[in-house]
Amino acid sequence: MRYDILILGGGPSGLSTALHLAQKFTRDFSPTILILEKEHYPRPKLCAGGLVFDAEVILERLGLDVSEIPHVDAERAHFDFAGAGINIRLKKNRALRIIRRDEFDAWLAKHVENRGIEIRQGVTVKSVTPDSDGVCVETNAGEFHAKIIVGADGSNGVTRKSIFPNAPVFTARVLEVITPVTQASSLRHNHAYFDFFPVPRNIAGYVWDFPTQINGQPMRCWGIYDSNLLADEKRPALKNLLADEMSRRGFDLNEYEVKGFPIRFYHPNHPMSAPRVLLVGDAAGADWLFGEGISIALGYGFVAAQEIEEAFRNNDFSFSQYKRRVAKSGVGQTLFARWIIANLIYPLKWAWFQFLLWRVFQPIVLAVAWIFILNWSKKLK
Ligand SMILES: Cc1cc2nc3c(=O)[nH]c(=O)nc-3n(C[C@H](O)[C@H](O)[C@H](O)COP(=O)(O)OP(=O)(O)OC[C@H]3O[C@@H](n4cnc5c(N)ncnc54)[C@H](O)[C@@H]3O)c2cc1C
Repeated sequence: MRYDILILGGGPSGLSTALHLAQKFTRDFSPTILILEKEHYPRPKLCAGGLVFDAEVILERLGLDVSEIPHVDAERAHFDFAGAGINIRLKKNRALRIIRRDEFDAWLAKHVENRGIEIRQGVTVKSVTPDSDGVCVETNAGEFHAKIIVGADGSNGVTRKSIFPNAPVFTARVLEVITPVTQASSLRHNHAYFDFFPVPRNIAGYVWDFPTQINGQPMRCWGIYDSNLLADEKRPALKNLLADEMSRRGFDLNEYEVKGFPIRFYHPNHPMSAPRVLLVGDAAGADWLFGEGISIALGYGFVAAQEIEEAFRNNDFSFSQYKRRVAKSGVGQTLFARWIIANLIYPLKWAWFQFLLWRVFQPIVLAVAWIFILNWSKKLK
């Protein structure tokens, strides 16, 4: 069967695109849509699951209440340098809501299906070939054809590689570890910690420690993020810095399983569409500053649905203005601001600067975060 729209990948970006398209269904616009997802829900996805307020705003506008699924509210978020710094609490007495991605993505997928959109699970996309009147998608379950496709297959996705085989690739390195809550770590309460102590050692990122839960059991999720902005310098092993921070909190990293996955990030010069093909979420590019990508993925879905509706209305599938539409949207503005800020604060890697930034310039940091990093979802119109 030939579909109007094939969405490749059923993570937050693909599912958000589908949910936003469903919101636009009218008698004149009711395209046939199929989502191809290589795994079966609930499927694991390496991610700390920190949902910022913007993610919830987008979900609420879709009529979804994320509090339906298991979560932990992080009452405060600490942005520290070597153990002290800024401490914030946002609206509704929480700074972050922490979900598990197997549960979150399965919940989103259920809502997509409830809105009449089919998800074919266990189908792995192998290649994507656009031609003059459509796109052929080759999978382990045969060929699928569509007028257009949305590449939502994440940082290692096949869509981007098929469409832009020679485009530059910038990725961050990320490691994650789950531990139980011990007496020592319980002193950190339900607070989320980001510590930028690795920056002077040429790791352009931070170590995090979030409260989380697995099957109702309180746990901690630890990890280290390196945007790779200082990749030309001599760097210690990423794992060693995570081990240092965990040992300060009474944990021996060697006792736990460490997992890693890259995050592909946004760059204003990188392509994100071709005739009949749109990219969303990590496939298009996530946040360079923190590697925060769930709210961003949900935001891309909003913008892509707008672009697709307009394309079908005008029967023009060139998508030549998609990158511009993303750039002008709230999601594009926050991605651009984070790209600039990352390129400013990480190369200024000296301990004294990072100390000033996180401990002394607090009002400036908070104002910049409030104006340029957060609150962007309200601009999605
Ligand atoms: C360790 C780690 C911690 C993170 N922590 C946070 C955090 O706390 N908060 C936050 O906001 N962001 C976090 N992120 C980033 C966040 O996970 C991503 O930005 C987000 O998942 C992007 O969503 P997406 O839908 O674009 O891609 P994905 O979530 O990667 O979804 C892609 C989907 O496509 C499917 N797929 C892939 N290839 C194929 C194929 N060939 N055929 C069919 N299907 C395919 C996959 O199975 C998957 O379901 C973290 C990332 C990492 C690696």
